[in-house]
Amino acid sequence: MIRAAVEAKLYDVVLTSYNFKQDHHLEVQKAIGEAAQAGLGIVAMKTQAGVYWDKEKTTPINMKAALKWALRDTNVHTAIPGFTTLDQLQTDLDVLRDSNLTDDEKRSLEAPKLAGFFCQGCDQCLDPCLGRLPIPELMRSFMYAHAYRNREAAQALLLELALPESPCGDCGECPVRCAQGFDIRQRVRDIMRLRAVPREFLI
Ligand code: SF4
Ligand code: SF4
Repeated sequence: MIRAAVEAKLYDVVLTSYNFKQDHHLEVQKAIGEAAQAGLGIVAMKTQAGVYWDKEKTTPINMKAALKWALRDTNVHTAIPGFTTLDQLQTDLDVLRDSNLTDDEKRSLEAPKLAGFFCQGCDQCLDPCLGRLPIPELMRSFMYAHAYRNREAAQALLLELALPESPCGDCGECPVRCAQGFDIRQRVRDIMRLRAVPREFLI
């Protein structure tokens, strides 16, 4: 998509996911290098890679390190990490003042290897899914609800998808294997419950 944007000669800016957790981050790095060389501005998103390493949210990703990781690429002109608290804003401002990735920070991005919340949009799960579910979108809704605690956005996305009440209901064993190690069936079941929750209870 990034290369197509360059070839189209229509666009000024590329907004792309870019983080240390992407299996294909070297490919993204190469493509944004080509786009920057062609004069496009590069905005990195999803730099915090889902915020937590684990679904139970006991192990946060090192936010400073994750943002520095994206910004150390000189072809990235800016990033758009979201924040909802002053502490988070302060963390991002600290990175503006000093974006050098220390050895400790590098190590913090290497371990532990847990699935976390970030769906890298590789679409590997689509063909094996017997119910032809839009799994990347469902995993994005799951991340909004559980990692970002933005249940309104999560529910809005679910409503857009207009799926049956129990989309995994007719399957025996689930043949889907996620590249990031998500238990897809369990997450689909979990997030679908949110659709029926009245909006006034989502605050
Ligand atoms: S259990 Fe759900 S995720 Fe797995 S194949 Fe069936 S519909 Fe797809
Ligand atoms: S395989 Fe996993 S990481 Fe890849 S698109 Fe599907 S849910 Fe996302």
